[in-house]
Amino acid sequence: MRILVQKFGGTSVANLECMKKVREKVLAARAKGFKVVVVLSAMSGETNRLLGLAKEWSTSPDPAEIDVLVSTGEQVSVALFSMLMKDAGVNSRSLLGYQVPVSTDCDHGNARILGINQDKLQALLEEHDVLAVAGFQGCTDEARVTTLGRGGSDTSAVAFAAALGCECEIYTDVEGVYTTDPNIVSTARKMDRVSYDEMLEMASMGAKVLQIRSVEFAKKYKVPVLVRSTFSDAPGTLVTQEDSRMEAVLVSGIAYDKDQARVTLRDVPDVPGIASKLFGPLAAGGVVVDMIVQNPSRENKTDMTFTVPRGDLDKTLELMAEIQKETNAAEVLHDLHVCKVSAIGVGMRNHSGVAAQAFDALRRENINILMISTSEIKITCLIEEKYTELAVRTLHDAFGLGKE
Ligand code: ASP
Ligand code: MG
Repeated sequence: MRILVQKFGGTSVANLECMKKVREKVLAARAKGFKVVVVLSAMSGETNRLLGLAKEWSTSPDPAEIDVLVSTGEQVSVALFSMLMKDAGVNSRSLLGYQVPVSTDCDHGNARILGINQDKLQALLEEHDVLAVAGFQGCTDEARVTTLGRGGSDTSAVAFAAALGCECEIYTDVEGVYTTDPNIVSTARKMDRVSYDEMLEMASMGAKVLQIRSVEFAKKYKVPVLVRSTFSDAPGTLVTQEDSRMEAVLVSGIAYDKDQARVTLRDVPDVPGIASKLFGPLAAGGVVVDMIVQNPSRENKTDMTFTVPRGDLDKTLELMAEIQKETNAAEVLHDLHVCKVSAIGVGMRNHSGVAAQAFDALRRENINILMISTSEIKITCLIEEKYTELAVRTLHDAFGLGKE
């Protein structure tokens, strides 16, 4: 039995017209002889609408009930889609998370998949040609409904492909993964292939095509993921294992992330344990700290600068105010108008001088770099937010990523 997982996002199932396009894609896979597991998202806007209802009705909605509520979005999609398939004469049925089951932990709103019952799936695929599966949802050991975090249908799709040992196609409203945001750089090019590691960096940097967790899952289980458009026949981008072709390219893409705030604690004592004192409470409070710079000390005092997601700034400042008192630090400074811009590429592993090239490109445009961090496959510069577009365009050009 040849099986294929195809996942369609919210904009692909937004209405009847779109769903008919989805049906064409599924019928095309059927015509090639595949049994198809079709993972669907809620219609676009629906998850937000349901979350809004929860807020309206309750001052502190129970996370377990939020999951029961928001998972209905996907339930509507799979039921309607299965009807459409039957109209086309296809033997199809819908499946909800708990019916598979997709087993998860109990972390409501952000649950992790622990396992998928593949024997049951195989048996259902013997009987049906198409299974329309609700993405984004699972259930606990106690049969309570869970959801996998925003954008979680991507992870559902990859998990189904891993369980069935097949390929995964993720259909969306863009033609694949681009060398940078095409809204900023008109010459951005669709990539044919990108490695899991590059994709992880791009997703975490705000290239919003795939949920990060789905890429981690795909990497772990070596599931090839093809990202492509529901609304065209373009070949898409294959997210897969690194190969020599990818390594030959110095930089594969430029990502940016405006969801950043910079915080500085000035004149903290430069003594053992100070970093732990600062970042321990932030970690305990669930704040993800990203770039960190500690200045050389003057008279046993130092400055600590770091970035956090903007939404966590208030919490961060509250914690820092306490630490300022405890440590007698001079002051806490912050800046909301910053942006991270990154050049990403597995080719950097084997080439030196990439960082210098990036810095030089920014210098030519007179863009001041506020902070720098690097990893094996990434160079990130924090800059003033107002220069984001210019910086992205400049780096994209400097590394020759545009269309000829
Ligand atoms: N409907 C869910 C969301 O909007 C899951 C998904 O679309 O992937 O986050
Ligand atoms: Mg999505």
